[in-house]
Order: sequence, then structure tokens, then C-alpha cells
Amino acid sequence: MSRSRPGNPPYGRRQAPPAQEEDRQFDELEASSLFCPKCKTAVPVRKRLLLVLPEGERYEYLCSYCFTSVGRKVKEATNKIQLIHTA
Ligand SMILES: [Zn+2]
Repeated sequence: MSRSRPGNPPYGRRQAPPAQEEDRQFDELEASSLFCPKCKTAVPVRKRLLLVLPEGERYEYLCSYCFTSVGRKVKEATNKIQLIHTA
């Protein structure tokens, strides 16, 4: 008589985190995925605007599941602001 292991518990389904007010800070969902050290797998990321600088916008990429920061990016401003000094 062979022992059969019980089937895998239904942990496979990962529930999406509930929508929160903070979600308004995320302007778009990136199509790309990055490796999350906490989830130990590639995860879909959310791009969050951190700072708006004269030379560009600084973004942070957060894991969609645990919101760990998995990367950063600075998007250079397309229109350079010229400072005009008048005497
Ligand atoms: Zn994660």
C-alpha cells in the first residue's frame, strides 16, 4: 500500500492587495517586472513619483505585493528650463 501525499494546499492563489487611498500616488502600472528580494521572485511593479526636480522626475519602483522598493529611476526632463538672468 503506497502512501500518497495530500495534494497541495490551495495557497497558490495570491489575493490582490485591497485598494487603498495611497493608490492614487501610483500614476501607472509598469508592464515590466522586477525581482523582489522579499517575495523572492519577479513581481509586477508599480511606479511611484518621488520627486520632481528641475532636471527630471525621480521615480521609485515598488513591488505590487509587498510594496518593497525594488528600483529607482530618474526620468530626465524633456523640456529643459532655461534660466534667463536680466540685469
Ligand atoms: Zn514583494
